[in-house]
Amino acid sequence: MPSKHRKMHNPNYFSWKEAPSGNYAVIGDPISHSLSPDMFDAAFKHHHLDLTYHRILVQEDEFDEALNHLSSIGYHGLNVTLPLKSLAYEWVNTREPDAESSKSVNCIQLDIRAGNNTDISGIKYLINSAKISGKKILILGNGGAAKATVCALQEEYEIAIWARTPNNDYISSGNICYLDQLDLTGFDAIIHATSAYRAGESLAFNSSQLKDSAVLFDLDYSKDRQTPFLSQFPESHAKYDGSKMLVKQGALAFKWWTQLNLDEKVMEAAISKWT
Ligand code: NDP
Repeated sequence: MPSKHRKMHNPNYFSWKEAPSGNYAVIGDPISHSLSPDMFDAAFKHHHLDLTYHRILVQEDEFDEALNHLSSIGYHGLNVTLPLKSLAYEWVNTREPDAESSKSVNCIQLDIRAGNNTDISGIKYLINSAKISGKKILILGNGGAAKATVCALQEEYEIAIWARTPNNDYISSGNICYLDQLDLTGFDAIIHATSAYRAGESLAFNSSQLKDSAVLFDLDYSKDRQTPFLSQFPESHAKYDGSKMLVKQGALAFKWWTQLNLDEKVMEAAISKWT
């Protein structure tokens, strides 16, 4: 199936069939927005590693074929972004505990077919950087990032999930419920974890339902930290985009792959050049 997001001119990524041989890459669909190459190139340079990192477009229905191909042309590690994290979970043979608990894999070691999820630590880092006045959190979405968010926060917060396509993954857990309607009333924090705005769509909600003290998070990120989702709310609310999460999950993936510690400021600096 052709990608909905394929760029026609000057793409800053490779389709998997045309990818050059290399060491590391981020895969997804869409993929042109990913800042991972900037972060990893900075990390490799910092450690004097002569390694390459590319953006590679992989469509859902070609996932297995693409991974076998990338493995065969020398890739060692892949970061996995939307909408491929569940497929990555199925593809790997061994999983780190955070990948198992979230049923979502955001980085892979291809040669040993192992999967990890560093989004969970990234989300904790993002949420802990803010001051939330209570325990009631609403998560919007039900994909890989939303699942990682539930895993990251369920011990400390009461969680409600609103999703366009609800499922019963978490229904048995005592402090997690699903909302039938997208209603923001009473929550201390809202965490946006859908891909709607990336696809040029938007969510319909009534922002006046929000508590004055409510904090807004968007796992998506943008140059000015004002994502389309966050801009729908008044400036009086504390708002955080997903940049801090991006850096944390990237630094942890780097460590998992290379066994080298990385000062996160190296990746932060790469992102700030972009801003
Ligand atoms: P997935 O493709 O796994 O999930 C996407 C989710 O968005 C699904 O629940 C999907 O619902 C929902 N969705 C898509 N369009 C709409 C719509 N119009 N209305 C309502 N729901 C919609 O993506 P991820 O979970 O991996 O990523 C989600 C977001 O999180 C992305 O913006 C991504 O960039 C961001 N992210 C940021 C990270 C960071 O480091 N800062 C790391 C990981 C993700 P349905 O099942 O019905 O299609």
